Amino acid sequence: RVVVGTKVDMNHVNWVTAYNMLTGIRFTVSRTNAKMDRDLGDSDFMAKHKFSFDITGNELTPSAKYDFKFKDYAPWVFRHLRAKFQIDPADYLMSLTSKYILSELGSPGKSGSFFYFSRDYKYIIKTIHHAEHKLLRKVLKDYYSHVETNPNTLISQFYGLHRVKIPYGRKIHFVVMNNLFPPHRDIHQTFDLKGSTIGRDFREEDLERNPRATLKDLNWLRRNYHFEFGPQKKTLFVEQMKRDVALLQKLKIMDYSLLVGIHDLGKGNEENLRDKTLQIFQPGGDDETEPQVKMLTRTPSKLENARQAKHLRQIIKRERPVPIDKSTSKMPEEMLEGRKNFIFYSNDGGFRATHEDGQPGEEIYYLGIIDCLTHYGFVKRAEHIWKGLSNNKSQISPIPPEGYGDRFVKFISGLTMTKEEVGREASAGDQL
Ligand code: ATP
Ligand code: CA
Ligand code: CA
Repeated sequence: RVVVGTKVDMNHVNWVTAYNMLTGIRFTVSRTNAKMDRDLGDSDFMAKHKFSFDITGNELTPSAKYDFKFKDYAPWVFRHLRAKFQIDPADYLMSLTSKYILSELGSPGKSGSFFYFSRDYKYIIKTIHHAEHKLLRKVLKDYYSHVETNPNTLISQFYGLHRVKIPYGRKIHFVVMNNLFPPHRDIHQTFDLKGSTIGRDFREEDLERNPRATLKDLNWLRRNYHFEFGPQKKTLFVEQMKRDVALLQKLKIMDYSLLVGIHDLGKGNEENLRDKTLQIFQPGGDDETEPQVKMLTRTPSKLENARQAKHLRQIIKRERPVPIDKSTSKMPEEMLEGRKNFIFYSNDGGFRATHEDGQPGEEIYYLGIIDCLTHYGFVKRAEHIWKGLSNNKSQISPIPPEGYGDRFVKFISGLTMTKEEVGREASAGDQL
């Protein structure tokens, strides 16, 4: 969960990797953005470009702090995708590569992936397996067409696909995508829903120790929750989810989930103020030559900390903040400007609850279909190996993508029904 990440500073084990990722992104994205826009051709989807960075610099790349290789995949496709998702090019670069530290969220899943948040929490870098990388490249064209016809897709918005490698190190593939959760709103509850019940329970006892843990299907059902969308929003959501799942089924993808963050307007932000303070990153010096290094070797002064805390409180109170740095002078609301035009991200970066009578509800939902790069074949192989070691075969049987998607749609649609609707459906069933 987004609440507290580990700041990636020079002493961090993944500092070199993070530095190389950002340096590579900065170089390749600027390089593509600098050119005149043009239409995409078939070859753009398979394109890859390799760059070598070294300490001295060469005719192609500027000097960097470390020697590393960087691969940029389908740069023109991602440039167009970013435009479709209304990401401002300068803003994108600024968020990911200006003089700010990333924050690392260990490996929240079982997959071994690492997650890094951009300094403003708008973007997430996720390291992915080679198989996921290959899948994304393979389906990129379908994904692109889907985004064209479904601008409001709930599926993760991918903004870039890259690879880094240090000498003698292993290849690290990663994607840049949207952070579904907003920088300026506390998320009071998080659910990761798949529509399955096996292993989909977070131990309620452990909630005390970790009140912001990501809960699962059974926790949701136990709470007897439902999405309060009202009739109109409900249709929009269900229809979009169905179209998204149809794509994932066609591409034989499974294991994805609906990530749900709930912000309770009644609770507001205050209770999490301390954690939020930790999320604000350190601005660095003004030296442009080695900004990241410079920034990371400096410890923040008390004054800076105090200014940031003040800035933060002002954001929370929704007052005009005193800019702490020219690159952070925007309000979070403005930072999420582009998202306003997307149905599910249009109410303060999310989707506001609505009562049946159309009156606004007390909650804002932050929703998206995440972890959608697992191919059926990959799961099956993995489970096969696992099954060889285990007796408990039926419990973990992966169901094929068709069934996975149908079950997902059925489950999530069910959660959008009001208690009355569920009751009516049940009694209709009884009469049969
Ligand atoms: P596994 O394969 O074991 O499920 P994973 O490493 O592939 O794990 P994900 O399922 O993609 O990881 O994500 C793990 C958690 O990270 C999610 O439950 C969620 O809390 C957070 N997360 C992932 N993607 C996003 C996103 N786009 N926005 C906000 N939070 C995210
Ligand atoms: Ca997952
Ligand atoms: Ca995964």
